[in-house]
Amino acid sequence: MFNISSGGRKIPKAVIKRLSLYSRVLQAMEMRSVEKISSMELGEKLGLNPAQVRKDLAYFGQFGVRGVGYYVAELRKSIKRILGTDREVRVGLIGVGNLGLALLSYGGFARQGFRIVAAFDNDKRKVGSVKNNIEIFNVHELEEKIKVRAIDLAILAVPADAAQEIADRVVKAGISAILNFVPTRLVVPDDVKVHYVDLAIEIESLTYYLR
Ligand code: ATP
Repeated sequence: MFNISSGGRKIPKAVIKRLSLYSRVLQAMEMRSVEKISSMELGEKLGLNPAQVRKDLAYFGQFGVRGVGYYVAELRKSIKRILGTDREVRVGLIGVGNLGLALLSYGGFARQGFRIVAAFDNDKRKVGSVKNNIEIFNVHELEEKIKVRAIDLAILAVPADAAQEIADRVVKAGISAILNFVPTRLVVPDDVKVHYVDLAIEIESLTYYLR
């Protein structure tokens, strides 16, 4: 009756099965932009008592926050990791200018398992709008949304003078992978990976061959 082990402990198969059920409920909540859920609410949706929910999840670590419950996106991501169905990379885009907007509109990311789950800008005219089903939040909310939307990769498309400050903030919020479209070098800790995409440099190096 036992399946995978967690920290040396055997996990009953019934618990694994319930994890799938939790994941399905959490997915539905996420689609409705619900950010937090209690063990009581989660249990009710499946005909389980809250103690059962807490006991099941406790096999795998400490997920709940006292007085808050569970962060929907974070818990779902953890469950998917436990179940091995965690292939999607959750992306946050900062800076919705011409370039950022093009990236938001591009459908190719989803096909590769990347999903932009939130965008950020400091322009009040852009904040609150939705592009390609992706909400644009005030950049003040960056740290909070990184947490509740379980963002693990940041794309930077802000002006050069804002890039380092934004990089510092996303790193502090726990992001360890940055795709930087801003033509400026970023200073980050050793364990943070930055990839640079500088379109002007790419074109310039190609023009060499035009001669
Ligand atoms: P692009 O360089 O993408 O073509 P653009 O020329 O339209 O953009 P930029 O001035 O480069 O505009 O700014 C890109 C976006 O970043 C804009 O939407 C701007 O409002 C936003 N932005 C500027 N500063 C910040 C900041 N500190 N935090 C978040 N967004 C910012």
